[in-house]
Amino acid sequence: MRVLIVEDERRMASYIGRALSEEAFSVDIATDGAEGLELARTHEYDAIVLDLMLPKVDGLSVCRTLRCEGRQTPVIILSARDMLEDRVRGLDAGADDYLVKPFAMVELSARLRALQRRRQAGGARVVLTVGDLEMDPSTRAVHRSGRAIPVTAKEYALLEYFMRRAGAVLTRTMIAEHVWDFTFDHASNVVDVYVKHLRDKIDVSGEPSLIQAIRGVGYVFRDPRQA
Ligand code: CA
Repeated sequence: MRVLIVEDERRMASYIGRALSEEAFSVDIATDGAEGLELARTHEYDAIVLDLMLPKVDGLSVCRTLRCEGRQTPVIILSARDMLEDRVRGLDAGADDYLVKPFAMVELSARLRALQRRRQAGGARVVLTVGDLEMDPSTRAVHRSGRAIPVTAKEYALLEYFMRRAGAVLTRTMIAEHVWDFTFDHASNVVDVYVKHLRDKIDVSGEPSLIQAIRGVGYVFRDPRQA
């Protein structure tokens, strides 16, 4: 999942960012409302964590503007103020959820996963399947032909992106921006390195890889038996 954090308190923003990164979210941070709006318009996020009191453009206006523009990215509002009126205004502005500071990081990440599940299938549990590879985003368990495959947070994020876009050609830039973040060094070969790690874990020896390289472009994830 790629998440945008819009929060002007830098320590809070980097704390949330670090914690979510450890949980396999890829995270971008905006430190005022105007920057938040710009990033939300130019990148594809799975969710936005939005503070209310922000310089330049306040959180409610950011949320309202995105909804007016037809952008349906799920929004969780963060606020220090536990006022009923604020919660109502936040939800009326188009937010999907609301969390009062201080909050536990485990609650924020659980709410982000819940938003993702609701968005995918109206609350139903979804298991991603490509060929005999299965991933359950609610537990982050990965299995191939019933065999459990342990993956690191980054490997999980990469695999989830591949499985959600199975069959599509994904450029290294698309992968980097989704799984890492927009400050990513495009000259590095980290995408290729992680693809190799993932292949070592998910592929079955003697069979074609689930991750096929497209020379000079990037990768396609698909069941080779259906290609
Ligand atoms: Ca603030």
